[in-house]
Amino acid sequence: MRLQVSPSGRATCRTCETRIERGALRVAATTLLHDQTVERYHHLACLVEDDPNGAMVAMLAAPPELRSAAERLLARNTGFLTAVAHAAAAKVAAVAASDAEFDDATEAVLEQLAANPREAGPLSVLQDQLQERGLPRGELIALELAKAPETARLVELKRQLWPPVKDVRVTWGTGFLRTMSVMVRDEASAGAVEQALRHPSARLLEELSLQRWVGALPTLPASLRRLDLQWCEGAGASVEAQPRLQHLQLNHVEDAAVMRSASLQSLECGPDVVAAPLAQLVPRVSTLVFQAPESIEVLAAAGLLKQARVLVLSQVWNESVLDALAQTGGSWDLLVYPRLRPNESQCRLLQRLARRSAVSLSTGVAEWVMHTARPEWGLGRVRARTAAAIEVEFESGVRTFAPNASVLMGVEGVWIGS
Ligand SMILES: [Zn+2]
Repeated sequence: MRLQVSPSGRATCRTCETRIERGALRVAATTLLHDQTVERYHHLACLVEDDPNGAMVAMLAAPPELRSAAERLLARNTGFLTAVAHAAAAKVAAVAASDAEFDDATEAVLEQLAANPREAGPLSVLQDQLQERGLPRGELIALELAKAPETARLVELKRQLWPPVKDVRVTWGTGFLRTMSVMVRDEASAGAVEQALRHPSARLLEELSLQRWVGALPTLPASLRRLDLQWCEGAGASVEAQPRLQHLQLNHVEDAAVMRSASLQSLECGPDVVAAPLAQLVPRVSTLVFQAPESIEVLAAAGLLKQARVLVLSQVWNESVLDALAQTGGSWDLLVYPRLRPNESQCRLLQRLARRSAVSLSTGVAEWVMHTARPEWGLGRVRARTAAAIEVEFESGVRTFAPNASVLMGVEGVWIGS
């Protein structure tokens, strides 16, 4: 999102569909369409109506003279201008506070939390320490530990601790950012990633997704569990430095061959990655999520299939995949194939291939579910289902979802053996 003066009268506003006149203030937004980056433009005033957050990001990033021009243009929209002023002040305050927030005592607790980022005990110790010093994160942790509803105060605290950053999408959990997703469009957004990862709010980051990153990775928080790299180059050697990384997802990554990890438990990839020798990475991986069952021979040839105890075949449905698996001579503890609705002979084949299989998924009420965006979690047993929430027990712990969460797929499953 970039605020600029329209250099010509050729562009059309994507919001109101009318021409943006030369010299008018517009916001340029870069989006990814069919693997290509595309610039789209909006009248500033149209974007404020349509996507005030996006407009705010553009305002905060704009040079002073453009921002003043924008403030004159939007003079009647006092609500929006006040929000921008608050966010700008919070950004300045956050930069000033960031160096001072963690002292030796809090660092010791953060160290403990890096090993177990959601543990309530250390989080409440940290909350006490921060609140004693009057720091806003202490209050935020207290509110979130008490499962307070999303009040204006909670929103304000979050904005104070993490003003919106261009191209960086985040989710919160108990006082800290827990997931971060960035598509790197240009040098500015690459710089934003490095800053964001050094930010105090990112100290307990658990999941990072990077698209189009080029070069070695910046220093990542020691709490990181899940790393998702798409269209990245040069990040391979940095993977080893992540002491607690459990899951790695790779799509169109150039240097998978140099990746190693002593902590990695599960790997999700497509055939392009498998073709690279992953010997350093694979030895401890026991869960393999493969996105292209039609290329199962590639997987077998790379030796990955023998390593895996849990095999998840996601995304693509292919009829001959069971035969291809049988031909490898392997067998698995758990085979998950969401798209397969097996007939009788396929059921017999499944019995030979795996001790337990989960197939034929459909939405609806089920005792067992799978998280479609986190297949590495494997199968979860539904512990409680109320009007307000679904509670699911995965091997990694109990998670709570909204009752209509579309990420959960029910497993009707064929269950074989124990
Ligand atoms: Zn418009």
